[in-house]
Amino acid sequence: MKAAVLRAPRDLRVQSAVTPSASADGVLVRVRVAGLCGTDVRIWSGDRAVGYPRVMGHEFVGHVEAVGGDVTRVRVGDRVAVEPNYSCGVCPLCREGNRNLCLSRTAVGIDVDGCFAELVRVPERCCWPAPAGVADEDLMLTEPLAVVVRAVGRGGVRAGETAAVVGVGTLGLLAIQVLRARGARVLAVGRSGRRFALARELGAEAAHALGDGPLERAAQAFSGREGVDCVVETAGTPEAAAHALDLVRPGGRVVLTGLPHAPTSVAFFSVVRREVTITGSMIYQDEFTEAMRLVAAGRVRTAPLITHRFGLDAIGEAFAAHEEPAAIKVAVVP
Ligand SMILES: [Zn+2]
Ligand SMILES: [Zn+2]
Repeated sequence: MKAAVLRAPRDLRVQSAVTPSASADGVLVRVRVAGLCGTDVRIWSGDRAVGYPRVMGHEFVGHVEAVGGDVTRVRVGDRVAVEPNYSCGVCPLCREGNRNLCLSRTAVGIDVDGCFAELVRVPERCCWPAPAGVADEDLMLTEPLAVVVRAVGRGGVRAGETAAVVGVGTLGLLAIQVLRARGARVLAVGRSGRRFALARELGAEAAHALGDGPLERAAQAFSGREGVDCVVETAGTPEAAAHALDLVRPGGRVVLTGLPHAPTSVAFFSVVRREVTITGSMIYQDEFTEAMRLVAAGRVRTAPLITHRFGLDAIGEAFAAHEEPAAIKVAVVP
């Protein structure tokens, strides 16, 4: 089969690779469309070390090509969205229902070969049947959408509440829509106004660019009270947690789902004084079904987020396109 193989940092080559075989409890998935994510860029550049050679890629939809002898839930020909993380299943965290926090978690496209290839091998439990009548590309963002569904769920957002989303990248633009689907009014907060038209089109009622006046005042004007009820932070920058605290009301909730890779300072004085609840949200547990249901029902639109498409042979161009300011989500089609 053909695969994009990362042989060392910044040495990515499309070449023929050994076709994986399905293990007894494994499934071989033929990739229909894959999404390029910031994590892939960090691996490509060497910021995040992996074992080489490695096939990257963890956001994808495909068809089941072959199944192992012990597989019972999916069949050859099924269309599936793939949950690209699997836990050990036996540690205390897994057994108490925290499989997303398992310290022995395996990440597809990072720890094992991923979807920038024609075929990928994954365990059966990673395969979530896709709803009929929804295009492959519309389901391509199921993985990041599941991240956001979990984050909004952990925020306990209720209909009629006000929410702010920090960051208007893929996760932020999905979070706006999931919050709207829950009946919340949403304020989008971004570094610039470049994506505000899209944010509004997808359901944000208002938008605020950093630097256009104090965030507290924007949140007060939007909510009609001391701040918004819940903030979902998706940017993962060192400043973003502070922005979230500026936006939230006393007694409100902040959910952090962007992963800050740089040191972060948080004004805990304001957390204690205002009894703010700060919650971390890490990937997903069982949110794939809900994510696909939201897409199938038209409550979340993913197509406007896909700005670029490349064949597998042009994956170098796909990585270059990801860095363009206009890029939101780049698709790779094997
Ligand atoms: Zn990702
Ligand atoms: Zn475990």
